[in-house]
Amino acid sequence: MARMNKLRLIALGAAICIGWIGMGGEGAGLKGLHQLASPPAASVASAAQAPSIGEPELLDALKQAAVLAAEKKSGNPGLQTEGLQEDSSGALDSKAGNTAQLVSSKPEEKKPSAEDKTVYLTFDDGPSVHTSDVLDILRKYGVKATFFMVGKNVKEQSKRVNRVQEEGHAIGNHSYNHVYKDIYSSFAGYARQTLLTEQALLDAGVATNLVRAPGGTFTNFDAGYFKAMKAAGYTMVDWNVDSGDSRRVGVPAKEIIAGATSAPFKREMTVLIHDGTGHAESVKALPAIIEFYKAKGYRFAVITSKVKSPVFPVAKKMKWKREAPQAAEITALAEKSNQLRSSKAWLAAASNGVGEGAVLPAIGKGAETVNPPVKPKTYGTLQADLLLQSGYGEVRIGYGEYFVVDGKLTVPVRRTVEALGGGVIWNAPEGTASIIGYSGIGSLNRDTAFLNGEGRLYAPLSEVLELMEDSLTRIEVSPGLAEAWLGSGAAAEDG
Ligand SMILES: [Zn+2]
Repeated sequence: MARMNKLRLIALGAAICIGWIGMGGEGAGLKGLHQLASPPAASVASAAQAPSIGEPELLDALKQAAVLAAEKKSGNPGLQTEGLQEDSSGALDSKAGNTAQLVSSKPEEKKPSAEDKTVYLTFDDGPSVHTSDVLDILRKYGVKATFFMVGKNVKEQSKRVNRVQEEGHAIGNHSYNHVYKDIYSSFAGYARQTLLTEQALLDAGVATNLVRAPGGTFTNFDAGYFKAMKAAGYTMVDWNVDSGDSRRVGVPAKEIIAGATSAPFKREMTVLIHDGTGHAESVKALPAIIEFYKAKGYRFAVITSKVKSPVFPVAKKMKWKREAPQAAEITALAEKSNQLRSSKAWLAAASNGVGEGAVLPAIGKGAETVNPPVKPKTYGTLQADLLLQSGYGEVRIGYGEYFVVDGKLTVPVRRTVEALGGGVIWNAPEGTASIIGYSGIGSLNRDTAFLNGEGRLYAPLSEVLELMEDSLTRIEVSPGLAEAWLGSGAAAEDG
């Protein structure tokens, strides 16, 4: 029955779309029509019975699946894994309550409480011969840190870069050649080096949007630099503790320890240290610095774009005489960095890194010309596949093929909808799309839908399902896989 309905609605959809384009709205144009078509009785019933599982629960399930997969890989099962597997093995089909429980009993990452004191050790200018020593020490103490790397060094020493990433530390961008004059006498020079380094890191398998300005941003970054970096989705990171190890050549370890441990205590301490060439004394100082913060009850963490890192204010007087960044230069940086970050290489690298977040070119191509520039979105992926099953078919969306955009699970629209028995109408000139559901047609929200780097249409799963008039009824988690069943499937099975 639903099949016939769909066919009828394809014809209806073609007629409707013409009117919709003319309305030029943001996707709300079809709401009324969507409701006009009366859904088949079976789907009404299943919708009423369906436990309320939403996209957040599915996202949690994917996170669980990724954690389970990682644990399996490392041969180190987590404490709560067994219980979860038992829970998800069955008996959940009919009981909504249980399903909700499964989802909420996920192994929560230990979130720091508001009182938790955190220290972020940061190492600049590497990788170099000293990086391995630093990594050995960090490993010995079981602490994680963040490395702001110089692109030129990254290119020459990718093995060292790999080790940093493999051992669970975060990596950031610290210009390509670290020559102040090249990066601060014109914004074009800075933008060029930022992109070159991002590419060098990507070639080494690292995806990051963390950036530390050589010498820090103070008196180097004007408001335009900050604006451009923000528009391109970079996260600037300065520091609030300076070990003083680069104040002059050969600062002795004792002085470095004093510098790294004498700043006024804050809940979050971001410590500047160097692991570039010539910083053997910093390596010597490191154990004492770690022991100091451990003794004071600080936890050690890596920097991500979610961390509120210290950023210096814009100085009244710059060290440099230069033009403010031009609008075209700001746009060019954003476009080029977006290109990099929507590449397959970036996504693959992002799933390996400890950091998260990047920028995706938001919204459809057509919409770019119609709408004002859209705010960049952060996105990431999880190392687990998603399997959606309905009575019409199933679709497996591998990790790297779906995105988590601003915390929402987004899926390739056409593949998902068509596998589940619906249809997609793409209006290229307008950059808009409609979904033909089981009993109606509706348009995707242009604020949340977007094209990926290859021009494939993506939208939040919750919206796609709503337009399909379908919903999640059950979720199961296994290592590396989150499986979800849709109500339409249950209805089809029942009938
Ligand atoms: Zn530096």
